[in-house]
Order: sequence, then structure tokens, then C-alpha cells
Amino acid sequence: MRIAVAGGGVAGSYLACLLSEAHEVAVFERQRRERFKAVCAWGTSKHEMRRLSSRIGLNFDEYILHEGKEMIVKLPRGEEFSIKLKGLCTFDKKRFILDMHERLKVKYDFDVRGAQFSDYNLVVDSTGFHRVLLPKLRRDYFIPTVEYLVKYSNAPFEDFCLIPFAYLGGFIWFFPLSNGLFHVGAGDYFGRHRKALDEFVSKHRGEVMDVLGHPVRISPPKLCEPLVNGNVVGVGESIGAVHPVIGEGIIPGMQCAELFAESLESGLERYPAKVLKHFAVFHDIFQFIRKVHNSTLNYFRDWKLLLSPYFYMKLREERFGMQIRLRDWMRIVNAYRRGDGSTKI
Ligand SMILES: Cc1cc2nc3c(=O)[nH]c(=O)nc-3n(C[C@H](O)[C@H](O)[C@H](O)COP(=O)(O)OP(=O)(O)OC[C@H]3O[C@@H](n4cnc5c(N)ncnc54)[C@H](O)[C@@H]3O)c2cc1C
Repeated sequence: MRIAVAGGGVAGSYLACLLSEAHEVAVFERQRRERFKAVCAWGTSKHEMRRLSSRIGLNFDEYILHEGKEMIVKLPRGEEFSIKLKGLCTFDKKRFILDMHERLKVKYDFDVRGAQFSDYNLVVDSTGFHRVLLPKLRRDYFIPTVEYLVKYSNAPFEDFCLIPFAYLGGFIWFFPLSNGLFHVGAGDYFGRHRKALDEFVSKHRGEVMDVLGHPVRISPPKLCEPLVNGNVVGVGESIGAVHPVIGEGIIPGMQCAELFAESLESGLERYPAKVLKHFAVFHDIFQFIRKVHNSTLNYFRDWKLLLSPYFYMKLREERFGMQIRLRDWMRIVNAYRRGDGSTKI
């Protein structure tokens, strides 16, 4: 088959690598190669990334920048606790993507909007949040973000740190990279992220080297239908493969690409059902977070939704790279669900 992959981010590039032996695949990427940016905090779990990377002949360990031991979670009124990490790391996502590109036919500086792909049997929309080729969503949910690349000579934390916002609208993240560099960012459904991040950065002085950011979709696949439209098929964040509470989209996007590659062999008509099944839990987690945003979460009525993020991650501690404890989850939810948390740091 001739397959056009629109968007050479992590999901599209991974998919193209999976398919390129058996099919003729071309990737169309809006950015220029020399200025390519992988907008993201670059946090992931090494265990699942090792498995995914080995399928395309890459050694994930070569990309790891920092491997965490514990993550500090800061709660209001000076309270904090730490989560033991079991493989959560940061990695050089830009180099990882560009190394995938090395094995592919990539056309850079190519905006797919309005492009005709009449020579191709299939077109993949892997343009992430932009979802350029699939129909626009009637109702979409996303978290606006901003992220700084900061150099510290004296960093405020040595390891991962998270500071959630009230109503769990999002959080500030502090992710160590290497050589004194950190991704320090914030995203918030209610738009408080920029001010909180600037307060954080001016308090913990560091040299801001770059400013990045774009929204992260939190609408789960069930709310991103159609996942397929004619010969255009969505993969990755374009169809909601993002954990709605933690905003993790790298592994889900690559898993979504795996589902596409499997379906192409066994029958592509089954792909939407496979995606909806694989990411069904994201719909529960999304409903939970919307209730927290709207202050309508009731512990008795909504206990299944309340516990869905906990159970999902608890059963996959290695996959998420951290120890998951009910006590920690409830501390975060209790502190923030009524908005009695403050983002003061
Ligand atoms: C600030 C921030 C921090 C994040 N941190 C993490 C994290 O630490 N860990 C994690 O797992 N997830 C994180 N995420 C989420 C994660 O980055 C995304 O969900 C994931 O990268 C989605 O992969 P994707 O390939 O589907 O889309 P993207 O990575 O967005 O890739 C889409 C590609 O399509 C290209 N494109 C867009 N429009 C066009 C067009 N018109 N024509 C051609 N090409 C186009 C883009 O240039 C891009 O290369 C973060 C997101 C943000 C915004």
C-alpha cells in the first residue's frame, strides 16, 4: 500500500517505522528538520518504551537523560509527599524522533492542510492536537500549557516534582533533563498556568533558554469520533490517545500506532473498535476529571470514576514507572477537588 503519514511527531513517525518494511510510506511534517521541536516535557516510563523501541530496532536506554528515584508532590499549606519511582525517566524525545526520521522518507516544511493525497491508498492524521485532516470535533476538551527550558546552577529540586492546581485543572511540572537543564512547565484547564509558572520561575531563579507549549487534548477517543473518515485514519493525540489526568501522550500514541499496524494486517475496519476498547478507561478517567473541574464529584455516587485512574495505574506500575498508592491518590483528590488548594509555592 502507499501510505501518507501527515505529522512526523512521535506517533506518526513510530507508525511509519512499523509499516515501512511492508508498505510504501511517506511522512509529511510541517516543521523544518533543522528547527524541529518536540514540544513536551519528555517524561515517560523506560519499561514500556524499551518494548516499543525494540520493535523498530532502537535502544531506548541510549536516549534516557534522567532516571528518577522519587517524585515530590507539593500540596497546599506546605504539605508534601513523595512517590517512589520505578522507571519514570526523561529522554531525548527530539533525537528519538529524528532518529526514526532517518529511516524514513520525510518531507519537511510541508503543511498538509489542503494537500491532495490522491496517489495514496491511506492517509494517516497524526498531526496531534491540530487534527488537521479529520473532521473538527463538535466538543473538544484540552489543557493549554506553557513550558520553559530552564538552566539551573542550583536547582530547587534534584528529581521530578509536581504541583497540582485547585480543582485538578492541571499542574506545574519540574522534570530534570541533563547538564543542569530542566523542563519546567504548567498546564491548567482554567488558565491559571502562565501566572503560576512565572511565579515559580521567578522564585526559583534559573536561566530560561526556550519557551514552548501548545494545548494537550484530553477528550478521550470515544469523544474524538470519527476516528476514520474515508481513507483518512487518525493515530495518536489527533484521536485522543492521551491520559486525561496526567496528560501523558507518548506511550498511548505509540500504542495507538501499534493498534493501527496490527489492524492493517488483520482488517482496518476493526481499528476504531480496537482503539475504543484499548482506551476505554480514558473515557472513565475523563468523566472523573470533568466532575472534579465542575465540583460535581460525589464520593459515594461516583466511587467507580474516582477509583478508575487509581486502579488503572496501580495494575500497571511499571508501565507508568511509579509506585501507585491509594493513600497518595486520595490525598491529591481530597486536597484539590473543592478548590481549597492554592498554587502558592
Ligand atoms: C507542554 C507539554 C508537555 C507534555 N509532556 C508530556 C510528557 O512528559 N510525557 C508524555 O507522555 N506526554 C506529554 N505530553 C503529551 C505528548 O507530548 C503528546 O500527547 C504526544 O506527543 C502526541 O504525539 P502525536 O505524535 O500524536 O502528536 P505530536 O507529538 O503533537 O506530533 C504532531 C506532529 O504533526 C506536525 N503537524 C501539525 N500540524 C501539521 C500540519 N498542518 N502539517 C504537517 N505536519 C503537522 C507537528 O509539527 C508534529 O510534529 C505533553 C504535551 C505538552 C504540550
